[in-house]
Amino acid sequence: MQIIIFGAPGAGKGTQAKFLSQIFNIPHISTGDILRDSVKRATVLGNTAKETIESGELVSDDLMGALVKETLQNIDYVKGFILDGFPRTVNQAEILLSIFQSLKIDQPIFILLETDDDVIVSRLSSRRACSNCGTIVNLSNIKDSNVCPNCESINTLVKRKDDEADVIKHRLNIYNKTTLPVLNYYQDKFKIISVKGTDPIEVITKNILSEIEVSR
Ligand code: AMP
Repeated sequence: MQIIIFGAPGAGKGTQAKFLSQIFNIPHISTGDILRDSVKRATVLGNTAKETIESGELVSDDLMGALVKETLQNIDYVKGFILDGFPRTVNQAEILLSIFQSLKIDQPIFILLETDDDVIVSRLSSRRACSNCGTIVNLSNIKDSNVCPNCESINTLVKRKDDEADVIKHRLNIYNKTTLPVLNYYQDKFKIISVKGTDPIEVITKNILSEIEVSR
């Protein structure tokens, strides 16, 4: 099953994508994670994209299209995959259609996580990433804000540069102006599932699964 998970930054795409990837045993492709990993390893891609990511801007469509195509060519997608963070512009949405055509990939299910800007601002302000194991947490959901709940490292939970208040606002503007039109573009092309992204995490997963069941 091919899934595209779509929504504002902080809508919970990564969290839900991880669950779905485990449930359906399909690879999770997160363009944000791939870019951050490239920055960490100081690859050519990472060095090119670093400033753009930290300022909350979008990396170029050509670069992202090539990255997604290369990633898909290098994984086993027989059972499907879940794509998180791409497409983010109508141009990328067109590029993705042509990638699917050239790799003979069937129509995906498109999941929209609906949120509102106030929830996003509050979620992203308290989001932290563990610099040791990469786990993403929300400070309001963990016992001790100094200890990573996954690897138990101390003082490794850090705020991403693009989760600073001014950058969050900028990313939301970009989402509303540039990314949201992707939804219209795919409206008559893909099966679109819409789920409330402000519900508790387990409820969102349950709702996604039952919507997927209905759509198959
Ligand atoms: P994310 O973790 O998905 O929020 O992505 C973090 C950052 O990576 C974004 O704010 C962009 O700078 C960059 N990025 C990730 N995916 C894309 C994409 N499809 N197009 C352009 N830039 C992207």
